[in-house]
Amino acid sequence: MRRLLFSILAIFVLSAPLAVHAETDPTGQQQPFDEWLVELRAEALAKGISAATLDAALTGLEPIPRVIELDRRQPEFTWTFRKYMEKLVNGQRIEKGKQKLAENVKLLTEIGDKYGIQPRFLVAFWGLETDFGRLAEGYFSTIAALATLAHDGRRSAFFREQLLTALKIIDQGHITAERMKGSWAGAMGHFQFIPTTFDAYATDYDGDGKIDIWGNQGDAYASAANFLTKSGWKGDEIWGREVVLPKGFDFNMADMKVRKTLPEWQALGVRKVGGGNLPVPTNVVMTASIVAPAGANGPAFLVYKNFRTVMVWNRSIFYALAVGQLADRIIGLPAFTTLGPAGGRGLSHAEGMELQQRLSALGFDTGGVDGVVGPKSREAIRDFQRATGLVPDGHPSVELLERVKKGL
Ligand code: CA
Repeated sequence: MRRLLFSILAIFVLSAPLAVHAETDPTGQQQPFDEWLVELRAEALAKGISAATLDAALTGLEPIPRVIELDRRQPEFTWTFRKYMEKLVNGQRIEKGKQKLAENVKLLTEIGDKYGIQPRFLVAFWGLETDFGRLAEGYFSTIAALATLAHDGRRSAFFREQLLTALKIIDQGHITAERMKGSWAGAMGHFQFIPTTFDAYATDYDGDGKIDIWGNQGDAYASAANFLTKSGWKGDEIWGREVVLPKGFDFNMADMKVRKTLPEWQALGVRKVGGGNLPVPTNVVMTASIVAPAGANGPAFLVYKNFRTVMVWNRSIFYALAVGQLADRIIGLPAFTTLGPAGGRGLSHAEGMELQQRLSALGFDTGGVDGVVGPKSREAIRDFQRATGLVPDGHPSVELLERVKKGL
């Protein structure tokens, strides 16, 4: 289940606002599940979901303790870029991706042409989300898992909306409550859609009147393709490329917020791997950013619009690079030349919190202390690095934490 951390769901969950304890009474006692369920049912009925659907989906429903356990768990250490790539885009996955592309090339090409998505990218998402459908069925009842989390009180508003939307999907007849299964946090089917994503983007490709993202590959591929195209995918562009940066490159510019045209990056000394000039795009307004996922001592990438679209799917830069690399490798393009320094490890959750606390105490605003080193914390790291004469790559590491401990 560890890989679910990297699914679309995890990102939605992490980005969901912390819950107001809407289902907790003023004395701090949690409302009994059965009472809570009666109210939930009334709300669903008022929203137009049929009594028959609610009877089938909610009768005898009980919370799943394991779901709470999984929700409360903190990963011990974050992964370095190298570890992440070695886990998610290894030789076995690349070989399986080639095989899956070949097996399904007709359907993937048909759907890719209709939506403007190159088939290799659909295969890459498919591989990362459910190991090409192997995990598409899911283990947990989606209704029971979402009810557990909606009742729990930590992020109730978010999960309540997912639960009501899941009930609506059942009511629309796309799937039965028994067959609606997925991850512990409500991600479903071949591409791990949460219910609101299903509601907004899932599509019936084979025209049988049902959107079956669990069992029908056409429906699943078309739903993912529809999400991507509506999120800005460009079917005539690649995701980006690995590049080499010139000596003395200003790492303030290695930031998704900094966008330049390819000729501008070329003028700054950025080159293709091997030293060749950057391509001159036919689309002259095309802009690109530089990312350095392992910091100044690791690889650098020039990333385009499609990379940003992958980050709509999953906000992680590591994930977006994994999609790009897997898609490339599936059609025989080369591996990244480096994944950054070998060995080492990412910061633990506790170390991430300590880093944020110490940076805040030194006057660098991390936007709170939650152990998750996001964009705001990376900005604070850059500010600290600039103030102390380090290369401002914004990269959190054990070494950086040690340096921060010494103060300014
Ligand atoms: Ca269908």
